[in-house]
Order: sequence, then structure tokens, then C-alpha cells
Amino acid sequence: MTGRPLLLLDLDNTLVDRAGAFAQWAGLFAAEHGREDDAAFIVAADRNGHTPRPVLAATVLGRFGLDTDPATVERMVDRLLYEHVDFVEVYDGLAEHLEVLADDGVRLAILSNGPVEQQGRKLRRTGIDRRMVDTVISEGVGVKKPDERIFRIALERAGGDPAGTWMVGDDPVNDVAGGRAAGLRTAWVGHGTVWSERGDAAAPPTLEAATTREVLDLILDR
Ligand SMILES: [Mg+2]
Repeated sequence: MTGRPLLLLDLDNTLVDRAGAFAQWAGLFAAEHGREDDAAFIVAADRNGHTPRPVLAATVLGRFGLDTDPATVERMVDRLLYEHVDFVEVYDGLAEHLEVLADDGVRLAILSNGPVEQQGRKLRRTGIDRRMVDTVISEGVGVKKPDERIFRIALERAGGDPAGTWMVGDDPVNDVAGGRAAGLRTAWVGHGTVWSERGDAAAPPTLEAATTREVLDLILDR
């Protein structure tokens, strides 16, 4: 690859294993209530973080036969937002891989949907943003993926142009469709699924692979 590419990297389930962390937390919550079998219910209801937190809080409290008064729902929202962060880990070997890329002159930035406080805790816990030139969190800029505007904001802040920039992520809509609409090349992390099962066949990513490390290697091989 020529020039100094800019890679915009999604955070959850691209750099860090948010799904694994949330599943661990769900297991503990279910066990706390003597309902181990309901951990899978919580994970399904979460829809990979897409369910609004107040909706998920009320759903889980209802399932477990707990109070659903506003104060209890609010406390549950806090638990859902923050407790799983204690289990968030960077994918194996990825931090070291990013160090090498940064040393080679690849410009890296995080572009993540989510609350600033929650995503900030993940960054402080993992240090994954140490070699990033920038971190853009949707709540902080008032617009979220797949809205084209957040990609433009990220490009402006990092001083990148669409032709030299990739959006790397696991979400077919937020990362791939959004990045594509913004004129970026896109790299999709499938985690064992393939695009034909998950995304729009008429609008595939520029490239795909099972893991983030493999995706990064494919980008740099081009
Ligand atoms: Mg993601």
C-alpha cells in the first residue's frame, strides 16, 4: 500500500471483545439471581448492544420478576452500561499488531458509536487508543454511524481523504454501509460468519475476513 493510509477502527467487537464481556456479565447477573439458564436470554435481548438500555433494563427486570419502577430501571441501566466494561479485553495479539502498524506509519483512529463515559472506560481499561491519532465517539460529536456526517468529522479531524481511508468494523450497516456511503473503502470483520449471510449482497465490503488482525493484513497487502 502506498501513502499513509488512515484506518478508522470501530471499537466494540472490532478492537475489543464486547460480546464476550457482555456474555460474562450476563452470566454473573443470572447467577446472582439463581437463574443461570437466563444468561442467554439477556444476551439475546441485548442484540449486541443495539437495544436501547432502558428497554433492555425493563426487559431483564421483568424476566427476573424484579421491580420495574423508574428508579430500579435507572439503576439497571447503569449496571448494563458499565458493569460489563470490567470484562472487556482487546482481541488476542491485536494491540501488538496495531503497535507494529503505527510504527510503520499507518495512521489509526477509533470511530465508535456509544456513550462517551462508557467507551472512555473501555479505552482507559485496555489502553487500546494509545497509538491512535484520534478517537471519535458518537455521543461526543452528536451524530452516529451510519450517518455520513460522523465519517466526515473523523476524516476532517484526522486530516484524511476518503480515497486513502478505510473503515474497519464488524457491523454491516454502521461500519460497512455507512463507510461505503461516505466514500471510504470498507473492511468487515465477520467473526466466523460471511458477508453473504449477514449483509447486503449488492453492497459488499471492499474486503472481509474472520478476525480484525486478518482484515488489517489484507488492507496492508493491497
Ligand atoms: Mg462494532
